[in-house]
Amino acid sequence: MDLKKRVEELTQLLEKYNYEYYVLDNPSVSDAEYDRLMQELILIEKQHPELKSNLSPTQRVGGQVLSEFKKVPHRRMMLSLANGFNEDDLIDFDRKVKEATGLDKINYMAELKIDGLGMALNYHGVLINALTRGDGNVGEDVTSNVITIKSIPSKIKITDDLEVRGEVFMPKKVLAKLNLARKENNEPLFANARNAAAGSIRQLDSSIAASRNLDAFWYYFVNASDFNIRFHSQALDLLDELGFKTNKERRLCHGIDEVLDYIKEYSAKRDSLDYDIDGIVIKVDDMSLYDLLGYTAKTPRWAIAYKFPPEEVITRLKDIIFTVGRTGKITPNAVLEPVRVAGSLVQRATLHNEDFINEKGLMIGDFVYLRKAGDIIPEVVKVDISRRDGSQTFFNMIESCPVCGAPLIKKDAMHFCVNPECGARKIEGIIHFASRNAMDIEGMGEKVVEQFFNQGFFKSIDEIYDLEQYRQDIISLDGWQSKSVDNLIGAIAKSKHNSLERLLFGLGIKEVGEKMAKTLAKKFYNLDALMKVSEEELLQINDIGPVLAHSLVSYFQNEKNLEMIEKLRQKGINFEYLGSTSVASDSYFSGKTIVLTGTLSSMGRSEASKILESLGAKVTGSVSRSTDLVIAGTEAGSKLDKARLLNIEVMDEERFLLLIKSK
Ligand code: NAD
Repeated sequence: MDLKKRVEELTQLLEKYNYEYYVLDNPSVSDAEYDRLMQELILIEKQHPELKSNLSPTQRVGGQVLSEFKKVPHRRMMLSLANGFNEDDLIDFDRKVKEATGLDKINYMAELKIDGLGMALNYHGVLINALTRGDGNVGEDVTSNVITIKSIPSKIKITDDLEVRGEVFMPKKVLAKLNLARKENNEPLFANARNAAAGSIRQLDSSIAASRNLDAFWYYFVNASDFNIRFHSQALDLLDELGFKTNKERRLCHGIDEVLDYIKEYSAKRDSLDYDIDGIVIKVDDMSLYDLLGYTAKTPRWAIAYKFPPEEVITRLKDIIFTVGRTGKITPNAVLEPVRVAGSLVQRATLHNEDFINEKGLMIGDFVYLRKAGDIIPEVVKVDISRRDGSQTFFNMIESCPVCGAPLIKKDAMHFCVNPECGARKIEGIIHFASRNAMDIEGMGEKVVEQFFNQGFFKSIDEIYDLEQYRQDIISLDGWQSKSVDNLIGAIAKSKHNSLERLLFGLGIKEVGEKMAKTLAKKFYNLDALMKVSEEELLQINDIGPVLAHSLVSYFQNEKNLEMIEKLRQKGINFEYLGSTSVASDSYFSGKTIVLTGTLSSMGRSEASKILESLGAKVTGSVSRSTDLVIAGTEAGSKLDKARLLNIEVMDEERFLLLIKSK
């Protein structure tokens, strides 16, 4: 093999994967696959140092700094960790540490490797900033997002400079719930806990991070030696005392054998934890040895991360079947020999589209590797070609809709049924309209919609509101009683009073997700105003691009849609925006009119405004009698004077930070 060419290939691939993982928070390959390629490159470079460049992915911390955030240099480089994949790698690590220090037994702190986003917190009595790792030298200032994590102290009793590092993560349950909601909204899923945490922290809108229920563990006291602390174990205890949440599953191990026992124990306990871990981190406990052991360009030599083997299982692909979504999109699905993976039985997995199947080279009857992405979504990773025995058959993409028979249209990698009368599309459209994040009609889930549609009780969204005429017919169906029918009719009637954003999202207009529906509802206040707007006017609005603008305008030009909207109007469905319903009403700030003045040290004024608005406050620019509260940073001027004159409550930054966390 031409090694130089292979190095180039590996470099290119790893750079692409780094970009997808660290910048887009949306990896296209598994961590195990990435690690395999990285190990291959490390090995080639070790055997052929002449092929190694300073810019090689093996020499650089993988992240990048997004321009949207303020860039702040780290006081000390924030490195990655060397990886070990088996006992031999760890024994080798122990041997090197012993050789370099001349000691014959080393104490190690064994810690869980939390699958999240590395974070540095700088304090000077109060939290100064929170920085991502970035490229190791310079991080992104994400303070306004990080302070929404309730377990992080905004103030500590030590007033000298102090830096702690740790991992921000999304608990398993939160991720599963978030991914389910994203699935319902047809939004891309987070592939794992790390990407979900990173995606949430690197949001420009703090209210999104606040809604994501993130948490954090702190595992490194960077300048502990300034406080005469010699051992990492002691440093962690002090962090605990100062109010930082540390992970209590850590264990001080006397020698590498105890570390290996710890790894066995936690490999078995892994599933029972509330958060995802992807390995075990092993650190020399005596920090006075760190300088002696030193650093590579990318990692310290006093620690190593043991990575768990990937949780993948093999099963058989029995068939490929097709489903039709509400937009007419055709999705091929794998029918699998039932198999247990990450705690549940799996027999179906999406295969996305024709290209996905061809890229993986799947044949019906193949043995395939399966894993769960984001802990809920089963995913076919690759084929085991060695197990082909001649019984496999080629996959052919269908050419007509499996439900209505209309010819399919191909757009990019996807196939669509464009027949508006297709039953499957209509059913999916009604399911979407009634779903929790749209019109929220309790009791009208997938099965009920399918049953009623097939019985002819409704054929379109507006006919849902005439369901009462079939009350007796429904009661006569299996599983229905008068009470359950009345409850459903009540839920349908209640949905008439929803705020506009729910209706807008429920209509299923292409490109209009839940968030965009809210933006549009807030901007236009009622459906009639939105229906009159031109593409040019829409393009003036932040977040709206040409595809969305075109999609909206065409939706409201379509005769059939207009007829349906008219019917909804006649049936008394509310077309007005009724104000945000998702705001936390129990916050100290909700319902208050607030003015920000002076300089806040932890965030900019616009970030503070966003947080306050997400908590239900109205932020205004000038102080008047209708102002309820003034939040004053340093160098506050005339607004503060006026607030005092008018006897308006004034709050300093410290209390503000405290209250946004105890919301
Ligand atoms: P890493 O995941 O191997 O380990 C270093 C990180 O572990 C630290 O920066 C820290 O944030 C974290 N960590 C968690 N718990 C810790 C603890 N108790 N003590 C210390 N650190 C702890 O290295 P990395 O540089 O963050 O990421 C590289 C890894 O990311 C790769 O090995 C791969 O698994 C994954 N990756 C995947 C892709 C992909 O496309 N799938 C792309 C890039 C990276």
